[in-house]
Amino acid sequence: MKKFRTVIEPFIIKSVDPIKMTSEKERVNALEKARYNLFKIPAHMILIDLLTDSGTGAMSSEQWAGIMRGDESYAGSASFERLEKTAQELFGFKNIIPTHQGRAAERILFSTICKEGDIIPNNTHFDTTRANVESQGALAIDLVIPEGLDPSNTHPFKGNMDIIKLEELIKNKGKENIPICLLTITNNSGGGQPVSMENIRSVRKVLDLHGIPLYLDACRFAENAYFIKLREPKYKDTDVKDIVLEMMSYAEGCTISAKKDGLVNIGGLLCTNNDSLAKKEKDLLILTEGYPTYGGLAGRDLDAMSVGMKEVMDEDYLQYRLAQAKYLGEHLMSIGYDTIQPPGGHAIYIDAKSTLDHIPPLEFPGHALAIELYKTGGIRSCEIGTVMFGKIDKVTGKEIPAKMELLRLALPRRTHTQSHIDYVLEVAKDVLDRKKNIKGLRIIDQPKTLRHFTASFQLL
Ligand SMILES: *Cc1c(COP(=O)(O)O)cnc(C)c1O
Repeated sequence: MKKFRTVIEPFIIKSVDPIKMTSEKERVNALEKARYNLFKIPAHMILIDLLTDSGTGAMSSEQWAGIMRGDESYAGSASFERLEKTAQELFGFKNIIPTHQGRAAERILFSTICKEGDIIPNNTHFDTTRANVESQGALAIDLVIPEGLDPSNTHPFKGNMDIIKLEELIKNKGKENIPICLLTITNNSGGGQPVSMENIRSVRKVLDLHGIPLYLDACRFAENAYFIKLREPKYKDTDVKDIVLEMMSYAEGCTISAKKDGLVNIGGLLCTNNDSLAKKEKDLLILTEGYPTYGGLAGRDLDAMSVGMKEVMDEDYLQYRLAQAKYLGEHLMSIGYDTIQPPGGHAIYIDAKSTLDHIPPLEFPGHALAIELYKTGGIRSCEIGTVMFGKIDKVTGKEIPAKMELLRLALPRRTHTQSHIDYVLEVAKDVLDRKKNIKGLRIIDQPKTLRHFTASFQLL
């Protein structure tokens, strides 16, 4: 077939949820009621919700058919057999353990393999991964390549692990203190930057010298595989399915939040080839999640997950998925926003520090931009900057800003049309044209931890 430039949504819409149009006045009222915290705005007051891509996607008719097919037997359910077979075929691991979401798989993995003082290297630990490592008294270390920390660098695989730093870490800390090494694919930080097959292979080679197993935090396995197909010449004619199998073949196991590339609203997996470890993990699963053939989910959820994991491998879908992120990222750049380059798989990050350079970090430029996007066009995004990661200096009592002031626009899967994205761009342009009038905020009330969820703000 002739190649056309337009990448279309490779689906039609059969079931819809209405979006409520709101006036700016209504949104200003909602903001005041929510004390300028977007987590506290009721979802019906939001036009385009780009808060997260986690569990917010649309399921297919086949997945809804799976929901009806669900077998709710407590033990030995047919839904589990279908999920187990799918996951074994797609990923190649022997033991498939369902969990209610990714962090449950992480908690079970780290509680069984970590002891106090252990070290877990990763390209970049996702926040729940880091928290689960640390809650075992272990140390979570990030070893992404330097290019991965430079927002404007266009390295094709900014999620890669720094192999030399990994070798040094093992030499300095001792292999006996490193029970496993993780690789997050795609690397969540920076909006889903991929890891190359060559890097996965090199990591494995280093680990083999010391007998350390590799695990993948494989939430976005299909997006990472498609980036490998597009950017690693050797794989340009390889099926995504085969790329996924090869990525997984270098690992002893993986954790997956199925709320990402599982295309479901809830669910997760813990996989391993290590039988004795799997036995311990299942014992713990029974204690806290449920029997190993349902792991805290309903049978119907297992079926939806099993169908979703197969559907996400469709290359028409993946082409559309990455094209949507690229379209949003490139157009934001062209209208004058500084964004993290190149566009990742599931989100675009705006550099709010340089875009709103008249607002100092301690007046939260990322949050100020998020508030303005909501007020102007009903768009919800997520600040990843000083509101989320700022720290109070214990000695001086003063607030220390985060390293970067970012605003994340995450894209739910199969949920928004091209005109939704065009609308986001139009609103973003309008906001940027008035940027000098955008004001910072100050916090008037905050909890001790994870303040971004509940803090109250005041406009300056
Ligand atoms: C979402 C996510 C997790 C945690 O999964 P939940 O389902 O939210 O518990 C872990 N790692 C990465 C990379 C993720 O994106």
